[in-house]
Amino acid sequence: MGSGGMIVMDEDNCMVEIARFYLEFTCDESCGKCTPCREGTYRLREILDKIVEGRATLEDLDKLESLAHYIKDNSLCGLGQTAPNPVLSTLEHFRDEYLAHIVDKKCPAHVCQKLLQYVVTDKCIGCGKCISVCPQDAISATGDVANERTGKRRSVINQELCIKCGACLEACPPKIGAIVRI
Ligand code: SF4
Ligand code: SF4
Ligand code: SF4
Repeated sequence: MGSGGMIVMDEDNCMVEIARFYLEFTCDESCGKCTPCREGTYRLREILDKIVEGRATLEDLDKLESLAHYIKDNSLCGLGQTAPNPVLSTLEHFRDEYLAHIVDKKCPAHVCQKLLQYVVTDKCIGCGKCISVCPQDAISATGDVANERTGKRRSVINQELCIKCGACLEACPPKIGAIVRI
């Protein structure tokens, strides 16, 4: 993006979210003189919003691609002509990430908040630390018995209540590491 700059990213960057980030910039910068750029970039961003929130279908992916080409070919100036580049480029090189969001409802980079899930594994010893930090009361000690001697049970996360804040993962003792983000 831009000129003379390079950004290095790794597997912890979500390419769909990156495309959405740049679209936000071009939406703000569009002067509004021509329709493809003025309206089209907003429509692109709406579709990207749906994808990162797990609400998109494969039909939306087709719409995203054809609209991106249309904006590129029909905008009046360089801003509109290059605005879809992050979308087209990520679609070309990271289409599997788009498909993971749309088909599997997963963000491979664990960036898109609405697609994350926090899960308690069998490593849980039933210490209860996660329960005490959860702001939603989404965790209960209702899993299998973790310790026959004490009778403590493993934690279970109610996914309906979870707001994906990550506090439980941080609270779980590192040497146990019973909570995973998937
Ligand atoms: S392509 Fe250029 S002229 Fe058209 S709305 Fe965008 S910034 Fe304005
Ligand atoms: S991620 Fe936050 S809201 Fe969800 S279970 Fe953990 S502490 Fe509770
Ligand atoms: S903090 Fe970790 S070990 Fe303790 S109850 Fe929660 S998940 Fe289990």
